[in-house]
Amino acid sequence: MTAKLIDGKQIAAEVRADVADRVAKLKAEHGVTPGLATVLVGEDPASAAYVRSKQRMCEKLGIHSVGHKLEATASQEEVEKLVSDLNADPAIHGILVQLPLPKHLDEEAILNKIDLAKDVDGFHPINIGRLTMKGREPLFIPCTPHGCIYLLEASGVEISGAEAVVVGRSNIVGLPVAMLLQERNATVTICHSRTRDLASHLKRADIVIAAVGVTEIVKGDMLKPGAAVIDVGINRKDDPTTERGYRLVGDVEFESAQEVAGAITPVPGGVGPMTIAMLMLNTLRGAEMSVS
Ligand code: NDP
Repeated sequence: MTAKLIDGKQIAAEVRADVADRVAKLKAEHGVTPGLATVLVGEDPASAAYVRSKQRMCEKLGIHSVGHKLEATASQEEVEKLVSDLNADPAIHGILVQLPLPKHLDEEAILNKIDLAKDVDGFHPINIGRLTMKGREPLFIPCTPHGCIYLLEASGVEISGAEAVVVGRSNIVGLPVAMLLQERNATVTICHSRTRDLASHLKRADIVIAAVGVTEIVKGDMLKPGAAVIDVGINRKDDPTTERGYRLVGDVEFESAQEVAGAITPVPGGVGPMTIAMLMLNTLRGAEMSVS
C-alpha cells in the first residue's frame, strides 16, 4: 500500500484564501482591519524567523501586523507592561508572545496576562481549560493542534470512534491535540518518554499524531495498515548531498510509513504550513468577535 499524501501546503492555501476573503469582507462591512501584535524577546534566530514569517503572512492576507522586539534582558515587568498595552489597543485583535521566552522570565505569568479575547495562540490557561472540559468552548484553539485536526478532517479521516495515539504530551501540541481528538469522540492514548512499549500502542491506532521532536522515531512496521499519520515533528537529519549538510525530517520515517499508512503528511509541507494558516484564522476570528 502507498499512502495518500495529505498535502498541508494545498490545504493551508485554501484556509488562507478563505481568511483573505473574510478579511476583505470585514473591512468593507465594518471598517475593521484585523491586527496581530507579535512580541519577540531576545535574539533567538529561529524565533525571529518564525515571527518574520507570521508578519509576512499577515501582510499577504490584508491583516495589520505590529512587531515588538525586546532585549533578551527585558524584565518581567517590561514584558507584562507591553502585553497590557496591547490588551488595551483596539487596533490589535491578537497577541502572540513568541515562545520560548528567555529563562529568567515567568512564561506562565506572561501568558496569563494576555486578554482572553486576544489569545490567538490559544495558550491562556482558561482557553486550555475550556478545551479540556466537556461542553465548554475555548475562544481560540491552539494553532498547531488545530492544524492537525483540520488536516484529518479535510482528508476525510473519520475521527469519531477511531483509536487515536498521540505521541508527545507538550502543552503546545501533544496535550491539546489529544483533547481535540477526544472531544471529537476518538478513543485517545497519549504516549510520552516513559511509555514502555510505544510500538504496541501505535499498532492499534487508526490515527497517529507524532509530536515528539525525535528524528524518525515512528517506523512503518509500528503502524497499523491504513492508519492516518500526522507528523508534527521538525528535525534536522544529516545529509551530505544537500548544500546545508542536512535536511528536515519528521518524527515519522516517511519512506517506511508510507508503505503501511493509509494517509500521511510529509515534512516539510504537512503540519508546518497549517500552523501559520490557523494563526491567521484565529486573528481574523478575534477581529470578527470584536464587531459581533
Ligand atoms: P516537547 O519537547 O515540548 O515535547 C516532546 C514530547 O515528546 C514530550 O511529551 C516527551 O515526553 C515526548 N517524548 C520525548 N521522547 C520520547 C520518546 N522517545 N518516546 C515517546 N515520547 C517521547 O516538543 P513539542 O511538543 O514542542 O514539539 C514536538 C515536535 O514538533 C518538535 O519536533 C517541534 O519542532 C515540532 N513542532 C512543529 C510545529 C509545526 O508547526 N509543524 C509546531 C510546534 C512544534 P515527556 O513529556 O515524558 O518528556
